[in-house]
Amino acid sequence: MEKIYDFLIIGGGLVGSSLAYGLSKEKFLKIAIVDAYDDTYRASIGNYGLTWLQSKGYNDPSYARMAERSIVTWDDFRQELEEGSGVDLEFVQRGGLHFCFNEEEFENRARKMNDIGMYYEHEQSKSIMLDQKNTKELYPGLGDEVVGSSYNRLDGYLSPAKLLQAQLKLCIRQKVDYIPNFSVVKIKKSESEYEIMAYNGDIMRTKQLILTAGLSNKNLAEQVGVNIPIKPEKGHILVTQKVHNLDLLPSLNIRQAKDGGLLLGYSNEDVGYDVSINENIVEKIIKKAMRILPEIKNINILRSWASLRIMPKDGKSIYDTIDKTLHIVSTHSGVTFAPIHARELSNSILHGVQTGDFKNFSLDRFKKEH
Ligand SMILES: Cc1cc2nc3c(=O)[nH]c(=O)nc-3n(C[C@H](O)[C@H](O)[C@H](O)COP(=O)(O)OP(=O)(O)OC[C@H]3O[C@@H](n4cnc5c(N)ncnc54)[C@H](O)[C@@H]3O)c2cc1C
Repeated sequence: MEKIYDFLIIGGGLVGSSLAYGLSKEKFLKIAIVDAYDDTYRASIGNYGLTWLQSKGYNDPSYARMAERSIVTWDDFRQELEEGSGVDLEFVQRGGLHFCFNEEEFENRARKMNDIGMYYEHEQSKSIMLDQKNTKELYPGLGDEVVGSSYNRLDGYLSPAKLLQAQLKLCIRQKVDYIPNFSVVKIKKSESEYEIMAYNGDIMRTKQLILTAGLSNKNLAEQVGVNIPIKPEKGHILVTQKVHNLDLLPSLNIRQAKDGGLLLGYSNEDVGYDVSINENIVEKIIKKAMRILPEIKNINILRSWASLRIMPKDGKSIYDTIDKTLHIVSTHSGVTFAPIHARELSNSILHGVQTGDFKNFSLDRFKKEH
């Protein structure tokens, strides 16, 4: 007899695998993940790997609280994934810095951190402002152009590739059917099920469908009459040669991977589906990194890539459940939010109702605009 899944997830990136892992703890469920070909846009393998609290949730209490809950549980989630999968996520959580280059930037940052901090549940989650002297104490080799920074002790980083590997490994171990090279081209909804068809004509059926296909969510959802206002936002990342441990706290601009290579960011461009390297952006990234850490001028850049963020129109996550059977997740920060996707969001999807903060991120907010 043809198999009908309880949940079928289109998209096996960080978000889809977090959800599948969470759902797979319910042993009675039949779950499948289908994933497209390697040449598909995939933010999960092109990202910078920060688990980042500070700056998330400005003017948005729900987003700030969600980020806080995710970050305070990250180490517990890491332990669970590493024990279950045997994969070292290379997770480090000893705080992160955001650098300011003049007094005005510093004052604005302080106001922003203060506003976001008001939404947190725990006092210890708040970011603090550090003057130049205190920043230098935390950051050996800091350039003199940096006048100060904001610091959050809960910020961290990991290897996104290892996170994806660990989640998928656990999914497969917990009997999730993982089907690569299944690029969905058609979705048909009937009264009791969804039928999805791959490029080559293969068909699968499911009672509930979860869309976590990154930027493809837009076209896929349109087939069932749902408009998801997302667009690509391009970001460049540069990688240097391996160097000795520089004892650096991570920032959006520089972080050191476990193998010794430095990763340099940050850029954001609204240029559509374009992942070509823009040498002007690369130059800007290097120049800024050298202002933060002048020593970088002696370190060779080995390679660079550009990748596309999945950016909802208002910059916040989209979590929605439609007709109790169609679940949509389109979000930036899939690394940071992995613990709450795997735990809270999968639970909310399982029960077919949007709970807690997720309710504030439905597609309804875009309808209200008209
Ligand atoms: C430059 C950059 C830096 C970033 N840095 C950070 C960071 O430091 N911290 C952080 O938390 N987040 C960061 N992000 C964001 C993070 O990478 C994303 O939020 C996350 O990867 C989104 O995961 P996803 O699974 O939704 O999408 P994707 O990774 O795009 O995965 C979608 C999956 O769906 C599959 N798919 C697509 N179409 C189909 C189809 N038709 N049929 C079947 N499968 C399909 C694809 O093959 C893919 O595997 C960054 C992103 C970028 C681009």
